Amino acid sequence: MVQTRRSTGASAPITLTSSDSHPESSKRRKAASADELETGTSTKKPARKKRKKTELSTDSEAFPVRVSNPWKIGAHVSAAGGVENAVRNAAMVGANAFALFVKSQRKWDSPPLSVENVDAFKRRMQEFGYSPKHVLPHGSYLVNLGNPDEEKRQKSFNCFLDDLQRCEQLGLELYNFHPGSTVGQATKEESIALIAECINNAHKATKYITIVIENMAGSGNIIGSRFSELKGIIDHVEDKTRVGVCLDTCHAFAAVRAPFSALQPFYCVFRDMTSQRKMDGISTFDAEVGLSYLKGLHLNDSKTALGSKKDRHENIGLGTLGISTFRHIVSDPRTQDIPLILETPTFEATEIWTKEISALNCLSNLVDNSDVPETEHSLVNEITSLVRSHVVNKTKKVSKTRARKQDAMEDHDSDCA
Ligand SMILES: [Zn+2]
Ligand SMILES: [Zn+2]
Repeated sequence: MVQTRRSTGASAPITLTSSDSHPESSKRRKAASADELETGTSTKKPARKKRKKTELSTDSEAFPVRVSNPWKIGAHVSAAGGVENAVRNAAMVGANAFALFVKSQRKWDSPPLSVENVDAFKRRMQEFGYSPKHVLPHGSYLVNLGNPDEEKRQKSFNCFLDDLQRCEQLGLELYNFHPGSTVGQATKEESIALIAECINNAHKATKYITIVIENMAGSGNIIGSRFSELKGIIDHVEDKTRVGVCLDTCHAFAAVRAPFSALQPFYCVFRDMTSQRKMDGISTFDAEVGLSYLKGLHLNDSKTALGSKKDRHENIGLGTLGISTFRHIVSDPRTQDIPLILETPTFEATEIWTKEISALNCLSNLVDNSDVPETEHSLVNEITSLVRSHVVNKTKKVSKTRARKQDAMEDHDSDCA
């Protein structure tokens, strides 16, 4: 039996509209598929009927209990159908924090947020009890603020600024983005200065949002795989109260450079927090960048080896980082009260996130050290069997679809014969 430090009192939403509280089982409700997260689009059809809004208490069956925990653990949920849906999707997986795209992350232009979307988002934030400081929107993958080509950089900046303005419209405080690349046309120092210049210009064009730079896996000309590069950007930023860093565990693990040593800063961040070494990773981050800049983490295990430079996310405990890494992270007081966001595969089944979130909440509450190996082992087994079952289901679905397509082609061929 796992003992916990704190009672796990629910912080579930207080009241909901009838449309919010529609009793959907988690099985029926498929939130962000990996594909959907990538494209920001959904194949889900909109509800046919809109029910009249009335205040009703939450259907506890529909929402898992959200544990009270100083470590704010959540996931990057789908905003398909409207940004307001992200809030509900977060609650559906028991998240105490969440990430979302505030527009399609693969298009340069998207229609503006409607007043209805903004109002519904704000209303649901209140209803479900989320604080803006635990929401970490993610930027477009198209944006490259480090591009030395002025025209292309300007296009990126316009898209970036549009995202920031959307966040402020929604009352959000943080915005996470990938710093960019030299595209082989500039030195890293030059691109770092360009990224910082864009951040400075964006600060002037917005009111309060904090711009959060994500560390990267370290391939090619990409900026941001070293603490020194993140610090380099921050050094050029004029308003340092409105800039920060989000550490992605998978990227950090992939970015470690050979020769691999336990003293490698990123490696230590996630492996040696509890070791006796004086210079653990968070301390290294504190020394090289500054702990006050740590605004969030992306909790992803890795499919690839230390130093692979590959960005391949794996479910918690099933990859090369291992579950103990995540126990260290969600037990370290320095990672409290900031968004800790899963970007792990769901195979179109958000039950996996529900399980991972509850596992991480459990790990951050462990008190009895003797229980740790046993608890970690059983949590990994639970996650493994859930992931396996969904991989099997997805494989079956793909096979069925292929078979249907094959049948259709054969029918077509015989019609044409
Ligand atoms: Zn990212
Ligand atoms: Zn990430």
